[in-house]
Amino acid sequence: MKIAILALQGAFAEHEQMFRNLGAETTLIRNLADWRNFMSSPSGGMRGGTIPGGESTAMMRIMRDEGLFEPIRRAILDGLPAFGTCAGLIMLDRNHLNVMDIKARRNAYGRQLGSFNTEGDFVGIGQVPMTFIRAPYIEEAGPEVEILARVDGKAVAARQKNMLVTAFHPELTDDTSVHELFLGMVTKCHVPV
Ligand code: GLN
Repeated sequence: MKIAILALQGAFAEHEQMFRNLGAETTLIRNLADWRNFMSSPSGGMRGGTIPGGESTAMMRIMRDEGLFEPIRRAILDGLPAFGTCAGLIMLDRNHLNVMDIKARRNAYGRQLGSFNTEGDFVGIGQVPMTFIRAPYIEEAGPEVEILARVDGKAVAARQKNMLVTAFHPELTDDTSVHELFLGMVTKCHVPV
């Protein structure tokens, strides 16, 4: 199983560590050559990609500068399992990569609640610790989107086909359950991409 982690900026190292601890092979993607190597390397069809937290405006700009925007968008639309956390959630929404039928509200918790920890119920998992850092929430979701968790009534985790997003940072806790859920999606998808 091979997991590519977009490493243009932000919290990619924590995802790398988490996936390695779970026994997945990881590749950091910094440019188009990294991406092409990842997509052409044998994986037995078990491949997935992660977009970490960070700053979505910067990530978006670097992604375009590196020529990564279209190839990554195409791969996800073709079925590559994709996992986005925080800024990664924003990147998958209608206004960015436009692969997932969600609209993210950026920096949605205001100054007072810029960063906080809580715990919440996650569909199919149970209680998970949730670390929010200047996080978005999902303010609109289309009919194909399944909301997996809410905090104060706001959607903070969701799934649509091959895509999984969380507004919080599971990679910053020692709870591996959300990463395991994603690896389960990668195993089931088996897309020959
Ligand atoms: N506030 C950031 C953004 O809008 C996201 C914060 C994060 O990823 N921790 O892109």
